[in-house]
Amino acid sequence: MGNEQPSVRRSSSPAEESPLHQPVQYVKGVGPHRAELLRRLGVETVADLLFFFPRSYEDISDIRRVAELEEGKLQSVIGVIEDIDSHVSRSGQTVVGMAVACEDGYVRALWFQQPYRRDLFRVGQRVMLSGRPRRNGLFWEIAHPRVIVLGEAERPQVAPLPVYPLTEGLAQWQMRRIMEHAVATYTSYLEEALPPQLLAKRHLLPIQEAVEQIHFPTDRNRLEEARRRFIYEELLILQLALGIKRYQQITLKKAPVLQLTPKIDARIRRLFKFPLTKAQDRAVAEIAADMARPVPMNRLLQGDVGSGKTVVALYAMLLAVACGYQAVLMAPTEILARQHFQTIDELLAASRVRRALLVGGLPPAERTSILERIAEGALDLVVGTQAIIQDEVKFHRLGLVVIDEQHKFGVRQRAALKGAGEEPHYLVMTATPIPRTIAMTLFGDLDVTVLDEAPPGRKPVRTFLANSEQRGQWWAFFRRKLQEGRQGYVVVPLVEEDEEAEVKSVEGTFRELNQGELAGFRLAAIHGRMSSEEKEEVMARFRRGEIDVLVSTAVIEVGIDVPNATLMTIENGERFGLAQLHQLRGRVSRGPVPGYCCVFSDSTAPETKQRLEAFCRTANGFELAEIDFLLRGPGEILGTRQHGLPPFRIADLVRDREVVELARQDAWELIAGDPGLARPEHCRLRRLVLARYGKSMALADVG
Ligand code: ADP
Ligand code: MG
Repeated sequence: MGNEQPSVRRSSSPAEESPLHQPVQYVKGVGPHRAELLRRLGVETVADLLFFFPRSYEDISDIRRVAELEEGKLQSVIGVIEDIDSHVSRSGQTVVGMAVACEDGYVRALWFQQPYRRDLFRVGQRVMLSGRPRRNGLFWEIAHPRVIVLGEAERPQVAPLPVYPLTEGLAQWQMRRIMEHAVATYTSYLEEALPPQLLAKRHLLPIQEAVEQIHFPTDRNRLEEARRRFIYEELLILQLALGIKRYQQITLKKAPVLQLTPKIDARIRRLFKFPLTKAQDRAVAEIAADMARPVPMNRLLQGDVGSGKTVVALYAMLLAVACGYQAVLMAPTEILARQHFQTIDELLAASRVRRALLVGGLPPAERTSILERIAEGALDLVVGTQAIIQDEVKFHRLGLVVIDEQHKFGVRQRAALKGAGEEPHYLVMTATPIPRTIAMTLFGDLDVTVLDEAPPGRKPVRTFLANSEQRGQWWAFFRRKLQEGRQGYVVVPLVEEDEEAEVKSVEGTFRELNQGELAGFRLAAIHGRMSSEEKEEVMARFRRGEIDVLVSTAVIEVGIDVPNATLMTIENGERFGLAQLHQLRGRVSRGPVPGYCCVFSDSTAPETKQRLEAFCRTANGFELAEIDFLLRGPGEILGTRQHGLPPFRIADLVRDREVVELARQDAWELIAGDPGLARPEHCRLRRLVLARYGKSMALADVG
């Protein structure tokens, strides 16, 4: 937590040090021992404490008659105090007891080791007691209840009760008491970080009120308002960080001006044997405009599998080359790198562009020669795996980096390529449609181009969801198509990260099919235990049509492109996310022949069924991404923390997606008027942005 609060004044001289920076030890009711416990929770200063929010709230609005009480459940009773007593128990504890007469019986309130409780109440007062009652002989007892004193006929104010994360040795009621002191004493020192016009425009609670209400809300509505303020603030800070990042990329970094001319355009287009789609034309125009500017392009090219991203990327690379610069395409796996290279090699058959493929396992002499030629500028266009290129290659004059992310998102880690002087332009391709909310948050500092139109002649893939009983039917169909000369895939899930299990499931399925449903056809298995030469060998044979059916896991073979392969079988469909299923289906939508996809699943879990049914219903990747996002949340889509940014504390991208939009609008307006948040009235905001994202986004403080 330390030192990230927006609203805490940071003073230059210790003399005017704000009380908010005092060690938490000095808060009433804390002391050295509890200070240590609080430190375990990340709370070191008074400010940390005020921003240590409840994890949930207890609802004490469940008011009951004594006869209706249930053990252990949070409930309230209303009655009149008849008696207050205190005694020291056999174990030496001071016990304060209070008998409350309700309409239909008595309830006893008990406090241990809090003698002062005796003096807080008077006999005859009307009160509401809230807590978890326990039956003790004749009486119902509530230990450490919440007590609200009520007037004669007053209806109780039933405020939600905060529930804090705890650590061993610190009880909930102790934490609440500490917080009551802290909120009462220190809230007034908090200073507002959000500009007043934003508070007004978005109807947000000011900081002091918000802190009070998030700890001790007057009612549900006020609590929601307080939470909304902090959710908004958290998302605004992120959007500001993204905005500053973008601004810094534009102002602090230089890139070569790679100017497209009509002549270059015509020369590039002549290489393609098809006209570009409208979407591709639009993408190419956006990219060319970026590359013509003296600052690095930072563009994300999103498009479904087969939407023609590689062609767009190649256009951009050829533009760089035409301007006398080098271009590199990096793929996540060797197979993909080879495939990209093959595509590009074919398209460039008639051109003089000097190109090379750089992957593992090249003969040492060849590898050395390629590296030398890249360094001398004797190669124009390089395709390879990200690992090898980042580790070993030094470019002569690098103008463009294309990163094919397929379905991984590592964009946050900007590829650090060796090469001095100017930065290259960056184009990141992803085949996983990113839900709008995610695109706006985690990738909010990139420009986004979407290829939303498939090249002509694409047939939709017919998709079926089948259970075990329908297997025979699918395999009969599968065999018929193989006999017609088509090829197909069988994908089994990666059961665990465990290599053993993976191999077993691929090999098990392979054996079963080879001797069973697909006996007589040419099957091959491909899995992570094989060397890359072995894998490439199998792939090459599949591509040449010497293998009919490929059995594999999903992870290894993303992105392989064989137009004659039109059959996709997915086993244990429940184990795949929608994005992955969609990727897999994309494998069989490459050619002019319609593809077929069958997902097997016997799962009856409602969420799984919803997911798989959505998959069969629509082939639109963006629609599926939104559904996945709503069903499973952002974590499932992105993988745990893969994006490299700190986790949200209070915001939730699914629940708060509307707030994301507002925060983005507001942040971008602020940045437009004050790009570095350098104005005095924005200094608290800037500090907060830097404290939270300075490191993970490599923001320089230009304020
Ligand atoms: P992605 O990289 O988005 O998966 P590709 O760029 O690999 O898609 O294109 C998929 C297939 O479509 C390739 O075989 C490619 O040659 C072909 N293709 C791409 N653009 C067009 C187009 N405008 N017209 C016809 N075919 C195209
Ligand atoms: Mg591709």
